[in-house]
Amino acid sequence: MSKLSDRRIEQLALAAVDVCGRAYAPYSKFEVGAAILMQDGQVIAGCNVENASYGLSICAERVAAAAAVSAGYREWRGVAIASVGGVPPCGACRQFLAEFGLHTPVVLVNLIDGARHVCHLSELLPSSFGAGDLPRPG
Ligand SMILES: [Zn+2]
Repeated sequence: MSKLSDRRIEQLALAAVDVCGRAYAPYSKFEVGAAILMQDGQVIAGCNVENASYGLSICAERVAAAAAVSAGYREWRGVAIASVGGVPPCGACRQFLAEFGLHTPVVLVNLIDGARHVCHLSELLPSSFGAGDLPRPG
């Protein structure tokens, strides 16, 4: 499993905290920021965006991942997620992030006390389903 240096963990954590401040969460009031470190050092971030329909709301992790893919990235070195409580990503986001690296380091940042907890996506999504589980054509 890949590891992140303390400097990279801090860089990602700060980016996640920063983008969290732009979250649009008028309904849940639960603001989340996610930042993804690319192989070339660039960081792409996203915040959660809620909707009055509730069901159309999208998590920060998927916003960041979609932005990264849109910018041309399909592999990354780490993900940081900032929230009150430093909660792990929801199940949908675990699956979404796993598409681009099941062993990606994940930094969970607690906005209350600044604590950082580092784990790997594979720990958050055991027995995962992925591209390798699909039948091969022909
Ligand atoms: Zn989610």
